[in-house]
Amino acid sequence: MLLVTTIAAVRSRREELRREGRRLAFVPTMGALHDGHLALVRRGKELADEVWASVFVNPTQFAPGEDFARYPRDLERDRALLAGEGLTLLFAPSSKEMYPRPVATVIDLPPLAAGLCGAQRPGHFRGVALVVAKLFNIVQPDVAVFGAKDAQQAAIVRRMVEDLAFPLRIEVVPTVRDADGLALSSRNAYLDAPQRSAATVLHRALDQAAAAVRGGERRGEALEAVIAEEVAREAMAGLEYAAAVHPDSMLPAATAKGRVLLAVAARVGATRLIDNLTVEVP
Ligand code: AMP
Repeated sequence: MLLVTTIAAVRSRREELRREGRRLAFVPTMGALHDGHLALVRRGKELADEVWASVFVNPTQFAPGEDFARYPRDLERDRALLAGEGLTLLFAPSSKEMYPRPVATVIDLPPLAAGLCGAQRPGHFRGVALVVAKLFNIVQPDVAVFGAKDAQQAAIVRRMVEDLAFPLRIEVVPTVRDADGLALSSRNAYLDAPQRSAATVLHRALDQAAAAVRGGERRGEALEAVIAEEVAREAMAGLEYAAAVHPDSMLPAATAKGRVLLAVAARVGATRLIDNLTVEVP
């Protein structure tokens, strides 16, 4: 596996791949890899001849006071895990390589980014959209693989690709969870043992709302209340939002029909965790 740190080196390898007529899948990450990330790599292998990944903790998607400085970083471990999955190239640029000077361009998708995480992390999805667009232009993949864990991010990237006619396809892979239901996340490393156990409330709350849908509940606000009430039962968790939205538009689903995305964000100690479930409405 090649470890590449410059845009020029990625471009030159990409040219060779194109000449060889090989199809490329790409998995962008912030590193501190877990089985969720590796599921994306495995899906990429099914969809293309080669899979490349990036590890870049993107400063522009963190607000001042968020965890940019202490975000877990372990490139050696990431590299070994990816090599074990048969990846052929890992792009791990420095911030200076990606942003030699402050970026003047803004990519914003107000209707999709206004609610949920976008409401609580102003500017976050601008940072995400910009880095993803830049990575797409550098890597030029045929397909890019994202996780359903970050459903709002996936919806935003999908729409950006459509609106701006990026010549690639977006594939979304279901959330990988621990045995007790907790969604795998690099930020789970921040949790101590009692917090790790409290964090399972996110998944439980979503499960209960999904059960309410199956039981006939269609009112979005009532589904949000089910999530909020379950989170409130866990003393170590503080709710940030409970939402029932349309999975593509991210707009509130006043009355659930078709499919509804149930989403939750909560703090456990100082750690902000998110999770979601998409439910078919009978
Ligand atoms: P991150 O490194 O957190 O930026 O995540 C990189 C990619 O991995 C994103 O597309 C995430 O949605 C995806 N991802 C993170 N956690 C999981 C998970 N538990 N299951 C599936 N995909 C995930």
